[in-house]
Amino acid sequence: MHFSYGTNMKVRTIKQPVIVVDGPAGSGKSTVCKHFAEKTGYSYLDTGALYRTVAWLAAAAGVPLDDEARLAELCIGIEFLIPESKGKMIILADGKNVENVIRTENVGMSASKISKLTGVRKALLPIQREAGKEGGIIAEGRDMGTVVFPDAEIKIYLDADPGVRAGRRWLELRGRGEKPEYNDVFEDMVRRDAQDRSRDVAPLKPSDDAFIIDTTNMDIEAMVEAIVKIYHNRSSEIRESPYR
Ligand code: C5P
Repeated sequence: MHFSYGTNMKVRTIKQPVIVVDGPAGSGKSTVCKHFAEKTGYSYLDTGALYRTVAWLAAAAGVPLDDEARLAELCIGIEFLIPESKGKMIILADGKNVENVIRTENVGMSASKISKLTGVRKALLPIQREAGKEGGIIAEGRDMGTVVFPDAEIKIYLDADPGVRAGRRWLELRGRGEKPEYNDVFEDMVRRDAQDRSRDVAPLKPSDDAFIIDTTNMDIEAMVEAIVKIYHNRSSEIRESPYR
């Protein structure tokens, strides 16, 4: 699939669009991105994994979560790998796959703490842009549409009622064999969201040009259908643009 489009008559040709999906924890980002990538053959970039990896590396090396310079140094050995089968990009820290160790609530909370540091965000920016430079990618995070891929062709922001989001997160953790209390999950999530929304650098918020979807009453099928619909509509708008 090839698209061309331009702004102010300056024509730019790209292979396939970049799609970004931002939103708070439990809003449905990962589920939607995973299914969309399976349906379309797009690569799926989970940028939360980057912040989680730095937090995990920091704990392993005994680096305090406010030591900006040393945390930024930890980012140097992190990269994404596109598997041959496409789909979800694999996150590597110094060549090792860390996917299985970064998904705990503790690592998530530490990730949120370090994600407010400019030095860390700066160090992780090129890794994300490199992963998205060929297009044909759906990227999830908190600042995809506002900072990392401001020129993305399709921007989506998912949100949902906090109780529903905590319920999804609780089920996900149960699915991984953990036995969390719902109230703990709810409180952690609300605290993490507040941190993510109120930080000075790249706070969680929809970009002005994002499609905002409330997924409170949507099941997975309805969420994926909504994204696929936006994708098809936007793709034909791009193709029909007079600036092509
Ligand atoms: O998406 P996930 O819950 O795995 O992200 C963990 C934390 O990483 C978030 O709470 C947020 O603080 C941070 N993050 C971020 N910017 C992104 C992705 C994640 O600040 N693009």
